[in-house]
Amino acid sequence: MNILVINCGSSSLKFQLIDSKAEEVLAKGLCERIGIEGSRLVYEPENGEKEVTEAPMPNHTQAVKMVLDALINEKTGVIKSLDEVGAVGHRIVHGGEKFASSTIITDEVIEAIKECNELAPLHNPANLIGIDACKENMPNTPMVGVFDTAFHQTMPEKAYLYGLPYEYYEKYKIRRYGFHGTSHSYVSKKVADILGKPYDNLKTIVCHLGNGASVCAVKDGKSVDTSMGLTPLEGLIMGTRSGDIDPAIIEFIAHKEKLSIDEVMNVLNKKSGVFGLTGKTSDFRDIMAAKDAGDERAEHTLNVYCYRVAKYIGAYVAAMNGVDAIAFTAGLGENNGYVRKTVCEYLGYLGVEIDDAQNDKRGEDIIISTDNSKVKVLVVPTNEELKIARETLELVSKN
Ligand code: ADP
Repeated sequence: MNILVINCGSSSLKFQLIDSKAEEVLAKGLCERIGIEGSRLVYEPENGEKEVTEAPMPNHTQAVKMVLDALINEKTGVIKSLDEVGAVGHRIVHGGEKFASSTIITDEVIEAIKECNELAPLHNPANLIGIDACKENMPNTPMVGVFDTAFHQTMPEKAYLYGLPYEYYEKYKIRRYGFHGTSHSYVSKKVADILGKPYDNLKTIVCHLGNGASVCAVKDGKSVDTSMGLTPLEGLIMGTRSGDIDPAIIEFIAHKEKLSIDEVMNVLNKKSGVFGLTGKTSDFRDIMAAKDAGDERAEHTLNVYCYRVAKYIGAYVAAMNGVDAIAFTAGLGENNGYVRKTVCEYLGYLGVEIDDAQNDKRGEDIIISTDNSKVKVLVVPTNEELKIARETLELVSKN
């Protein structure tokens, strides 16, 4: 069955059409600047040239229509008709406490997702628009929602409660939810497969290091703690997000810089992280180049970044009372050997030993620890779209 995976943002829509039997991508791409002047579709069929089509996309319905037209286009399409799309899998950012697993999308489910909008005001409404747009264009095709938060619903109360008045949890559901669940779940399972160990008897720490970044402790196949919280702002230092700070800093900056709460939050989300620390860039390729050219601030930024990752790993070793494997994934985790090595240098006490030659390699699923290392360290490229396609297939086949 071919499954269309949709990841819908407020002005963008990423897609992949996946042949779920062969687990192959037939076509992928994205619509950019939806509802804004200069919108365009980037479409890349398997074994074909990448095509960019500039065309007005006043709304997401039009964007989905353009994607579907591209998929069935006589020359560059990869399927003959939309009947060949068996189901649509939607990435949905926040499922609150309502969704502990993926689900077939029904009218009731849409209402329940809407109730989570308050928890992810930037993302969930956009995800819902994507669902509506697909419904309009393919009214009879089953759809599945796959939530970023669902994998973490197994966290115990001691990991998800904050030290705040309990009534805030009761009234507003303020608690740790965690994100990147699709990636943490995919990567931790892959680690078990690569090592040939049972997933339900393994302690793994997954470091998803992209622009957004989070660490997750996976014990016996279940997420038991993760670094992002109520929102994706908590935890690691990220591209432009601060991660953990003393909450009193918010008031302090507001007074000193004469900013409103919204403005301070904007600083923490968009102007902090490694972007804020370097004062120049959120891209680690630029930061590495600057460090190599002798830029001290770039070097300090890398130190602060890696130290925070290492501290979280240490915390999760404690949370699980041990660790068997540590995996790095996402743009930075997959491509930056310097960050991996620097993080692992803090972990000598665990018996972690990195094989430098392995750590310099690029590609799929590499074990970068030495044979003697007490904890296995791996690089596992994440594949959230494939995971969404798998979950979608499983649910659609059952119903
Ligand atoms: P997002 O969270 O936006 O999906 P990514 O997973 O693409 O982010 O990660 C972005 C980060 O990964 C950037 O800092 C970038 O420098 C780094 N990165 C991505 N690809 C490479 C690469 N080929 N080599 C080095 N760094 C890379």
